[in-house]
Amino acid sequence: MDSEIIKCLIIGSGPAGYTAAIYAARAGLQPVMYQGLQPGGQLTITNDVENYPGYPQGINGPQMMEDFKAQAARFGTDIRYGIATGVDFSSKPLKVTIDDNLTLAAHTVVIATGASAKWLGLDSEARLNGNGVSACAVCDGFFYRGQEVAIVGAGDTACEEATYLANLCSKVYMIIRRDEMRASQIMQRRVKNNPKIEIIWNSVTDEILGEQAVEGVRLKNTITGELTEIPVSGFFVAIGHEPNSNIFLDYINHDEQGYLRTIPGSTKTNIDGVFACGDVQDNEYRQAVTAAGTGCMAALDAERYLVANEIH
Ligand code: NDP
Repeated sequence: MDSEIIKCLIIGSGPAGYTAAIYAARAGLQPVMYQGLQPGGQLTITNDVENYPGYPQGINGPQMMEDFKAQAARFGTDIRYGIATGVDFSSKPLKVTIDDNLTLAAHTVVIATGASAKWLGLDSEARLNGNGVSACAVCDGFFYRGQEVAIVGAGDTACEEATYLANLCSKVYMIIRRDEMRASQIMQRRVKNNPKIEIIWNSVTDEILGEQAVEGVRLKNTITGELTEIPVSGFFVAIGHEPNSNIFLDYINHDEQGYLRTIPGSTKTNIDGVFACGDVQDNEYRQAVTAAGTGCMAALDAERYLVANEIH
């Protein structure tokens, strides 16, 4: 094990992780950040971000994350490639294993590993991701205003996003694999009463059509096997998210879906010195700006913990 004890080890490099790094670095905590599996996080698969304050003309997701990174680096964050593959929070200092082969010791750990959208798993979905395929209606719906789009899923997220899209788009097809929805009654009612939303029951996506951009969807009826095509320019997947929390679950309190629990009004977890911010602990808002906000909180919580424990 490396003999150095890191004052503030940040795992994850989305808006939460970088904001934590900026605050921690400016507070003199000499943060070390491991960027994780998807450096820059979910925003790196978004085209334009138009709802993050401070960018009046909008900015593309990867560029925004480069800006976050540059700002974190400017104040001395040690940004490293590597994936946290295990932790041992049973004693102090806290231990985090990187890439299965390097174990680091840290006084505080900020978990900012985010969440990942679940995808259908089609090749066409991966190929057209960012070119009509999206897992975030709030992020990307605006680009399809006045156009016809489709959304897959039948939970509260899908209903909420279908309703959101119906405000912008000329028509929203909601593709549902069963003959009923999982969403709460009130959300279902909202969707069913919206004249711009057409529900297509008992159907799964057979293929997303288009070479450079989405041009339509081929659906398969799960009962008859019949194939039909609908022309759409946007295809939204809303079949749930999963928090990237597996390696922490033995130590950190979490809900049944694996979202880490924090003490309300803070980023503190049940383990002293371990803080969680961003989507890994937020199943509700999931926005870059809310993630950044909790990243700031995590750095302040870490700093206060170090002061309270007289760790210099
Ligand atoms: P859910 O897990 O609740 O729903 C996922 C939906 O996607 C289900 O309808 C499921 O279908 C469908 N699905 C899953 N896999 C596939 C697939 N391969 N092909 C087609 N459809 C698929 O996820 P949500 O993100 O909707 O919600 C997560 C949690 O957040 C829930 O507890 C929800 O209540 C909550 N939430 C609350 C909101 C609010 O109250 N305002 C807003 C958003 C979320 P099936 O039903 O057939 O399994």
